[in-house]
Amino acid sequence: MNILFFGPNGSGKGTQGAIVKEKFNIPHIETGVIFRDNISKGTTLGKEAKGYIDRGELVPDSITIPMILDRIKQKDCKEGWLLDGFPRNLTQAEALDKALKQENINLDIVIEIVLDRQIAKNRIMGRRLCVNDNNHPNNIYIDAIKPNGDKCRVCGGELKTRSDDQDEGAIDKRHNIYYDDKTGTVAAINFFKNLSAGSGGVPKIIELDGKPGVKEVAADLLGKLA
Ligand code: AMP
Repeated sequence: MNILFFGPNGSGKGTQGAIVKEKFNIPHIETGVIFRDNISKGTTLGKEAKGYIDRGELVPDSITIPMILDRIKQKDCKEGWLLDGFPRNLTQAEALDKALKQENINLDIVIEIVLDRQIAKNRIMGRRLCVNDNNHPNNIYIDAIKPNGDKCRVCGGELKTRSDDQDEGAIDKRHNIYYDDKTGTVAAINFFKNLSAGSGGVPKIIELDGKPGVKEVAADLLGKLA
């Protein structure tokens, strides 16, 4: 099963992506993770990518596209792959489509978590970390997991923010790329939707409403994958 997974920062894409990986037992290929691995190992790729990533810009297509096309040709991808974080713009979408056609590889499913930009931003900026346990969910903008006053709703512990969650400029920069329907990620999603509409529903398009909680979105996802 070959799958693309889209969703803005703050939509819970990472959590839902893990569910898909588990269900199909396919490698979860996250572009950002590959870059960060290469940076920490000090590889040539990492050195090339670092400046762009630090500035919150996309790494140039000339680096990213061959890296991903090479990755999905590796042995562990024989039974399928789940691409997350790629394609991030229209050029990458077109390059992926062309490469898959050349290699006779089908794209089966495109999953999109749909979430309003302001809600996505609030989700990131409202996140609070419990000093006792990172897994205690607290978010000042989500009713279901609102902290108890200024304390953790699970254990009453102190709450902290993560500094990158509070960097509004960086969040806006990422969302500018994602929500751009001319050349950005939304344009890439629309490219595959048009492809699907013109090819009898292949790839299958799965849209998920990202507004409900993690469990509800996961149930919707698993229902639509069944
Ligand atoms: P992520 O972990 O997906 O947020 O990615 C972290 C950073 O890696 C991004 O801000 C970009 O600088 C870079 N990156 C990730 N995916 C791509 C992509 N498909 N094209 C270009 N740059 C990317």
